[in-house]
Amino acid sequence: MMPMPEQESQTGWVSGGDLQTGAFGSVWQWVKQLTILRSTPRGPRTPPIRATERDVRMMKRALELARKSAAADEVPVGAVLYRGDEIIAEAHNLREAVNDPTGHAELMAVRYAAEKLKTWRLSDCSLAVTLEPCPMCAGAIVQARVGRLVYGATDPKAGAVHSLYNLCTDPRLNHSVEIVHGVLANESSELLKAFFRRRRAEKKADRDTPPSTSPRRRIR
Ligand SMILES: [Zn+2]
Repeated sequence: MMPMPEQESQTGWVSGGDLQTGAFGSVWQWVKQLTILRSTPRGPRTPPIRATERDVRMMKRALELARKSAAADEVPVGAVLYRGDEIIAEAHNLREAVNDPTGHAELMAVRYAAEKLKTWRLSDCSLAVTLEPCPMCAGAIVQARVGRLVYGATDPKAGAVHSLYNLCTDPRLNHSVEIVHGVLANESSELLKAFFRRRRAEKKADRDTPPSTSPRRRIR
């Protein structure tokens, strides 16, 4: 029997031909479907809500903060918490500067805003953040009852709003956040890519230079 030509699946992996026919056919299709489901990144599944002109303006400010973050050798993520046109709090990542594993931009912005407004309930506020929040930050956003979350780039490795979990809209939790996603996502993702490209190049330069002659401080 001639082998069937190999076919590239939707997910990029290559599947052999014979297994797809005969007695194994249905089982093979079932396994293939499962594999596709498991390997397809989970993106936003709800129809996108349009960002308002104000959301875009706030995201531009969050991007400025993300650039400051990169200049301070922190992962470039910025966040702005606002109510109407008023900026209540803003922050960029501070994890390296203060050696705080919770020093993510959006968590800091939520914390500063609650302090400033003297309430932990931020349901009449929106939060713009340049990168999809991680599980810790998505949890804090739900805990603070933030009304709206506006984010830029998705984070397939750690995002907990759409990519890995749906913490902000999980019906089992007692608060659901309105989500606007993909706002100035390219700008945010380019910033992150450039930052990690630079960091890799610096690490390589450090590896290639003997310690006694390297003027650069140690990079994480
Ligand atoms: Zn986070």
